[in-house]
Amino acid sequence: MKDNYPQELSSLHQIKPMKVSAIHCKNCNTIIYSRCRDDIRSCRCFKSEKENVGIAINGGFDYVKVIVSSTCDYEFLHVDIGDVSLVDLYRDWSGGVDKYGVIND
Ligand SMILES: [Zn+2]
Repeated sequence: MKDNYPQELSSLHQIKPMKVSAIHCKNCNTIIYSRCRDDIRSCRCFKSEKENVGIAINGGFDYVKVIVSSTCDYEFLHVDIGDVSLVDLYRDWSGGVDKYGVIND
């Protein structure tokens, strides 16, 4: 059974040092990153697309989409988030655990 386990799937479960594309919102000093494709993560001062003062990111490891206000001061970062698997990050989002995705100073 184990021999038939697709290599692609086992790599999703592999726990390894993870580096993510992240955004640092300098308005509220929050670092955010998207844990998986459908995860929209926002900083503390993000309200909505209409009355927005902050920033949000989604796309996970597939793409990067950013929703940002004209008044938001931000920078892109690459952040080490420790030893974790892609499945752990997905379950953190889908299960509402929210251990990952936001780094507050
Ligand atoms: Zn913010």
